[in-house]
Amino acid sequence: MSLVLTDLRLTYPDGDRVLTALDGVSLEVAAGQLVAVVGPSGSGKSSLLAVAATLLRPDAGRVLVDGVDTGGLSAAQRARLRLEKVGIVFQQPNLLASLTAVEQLLAAHHMRGGSVRRQRRAAAELLAAVGLDGKQHRRPHQLSGGERQRVNIARALSGRPAVLLVDEPTAALDHDRGAQIVELLAEVTRQHQVATVMVTHDTEHLDQVDEVVEMRDGRLSALSGRR
Ligand code: ADP
Ligand code: MG
Repeated sequence: MSLVLTDLRLTYPDGDRVLTALDGVSLEVAAGQLVAVVGPSGSGKSSLLAVAATLLRPDAGRVLVDGVDTGGLSAAQRARLRLEKVGIVFQQPNLLASLTAVEQLLAAHHMRGGSVRRQRRAAAELLAAVGLDGKQHRRPHQLSGGERQRVNIARALSGRPAVLLVDEPTAALDHDRGAQIVELLAEVTRQHQVATVMVTHDTEHLDQVDEVVEMRDGRLSALSGRR
């Protein structure tokens, strides 16, 4: 299993009390598997991704990424682990306005080091693989919302992660473009043998995913299993 989340508990301070965002959440995702987490706004989906990404430390429970127990890692070690093993696609495509599509990927590569020529070729290949052949030198404002989301996905994959975490990728897209993005996620999950968790508040486009789980008030339950 590339991602193993066990009995996670996460609370946020809330005045004199605490708000329980994750309440005994467990989830396992294998390489090449796409799991959708559905649930209403405020149910804890983004919190789950933040903990899985090691951006937030849970109050209790374990997070294993590609076999590494992240509980004992320092902040610097977690940052290194994210760089090497975790791809993250946030709700808002947070692309840098001044960079072209290929440069968005190279900026991420730069932090990892290695040969620039090879990286440039790998970045161009990835962009072509997500359907952006011929558009690699466009800047964000020259791309549609769906295309920006594709750059985001390519960038998240560019470090060859074991785990891909995707937050509401279809939120800003119309039905057809949303369906295409989920289809793309299913495709890259298989091609790159990455363990993908996609969070979404809508229950459309779920025919492409291997498993659907539902989040309600910080608790996770199986909705359907078709692996
Ligand atoms: P979802 O992504 O399903 O909308 P979130 O994980 O964002 O849910 O939020 C779960 C709960 O935690 C909500 O009640 C939200 O208001 C609360 N919450 C999220 N982030 C914070 C934070 N940084 N500080 C305090 N409360 C938070
Ligand atoms: Mg959210």
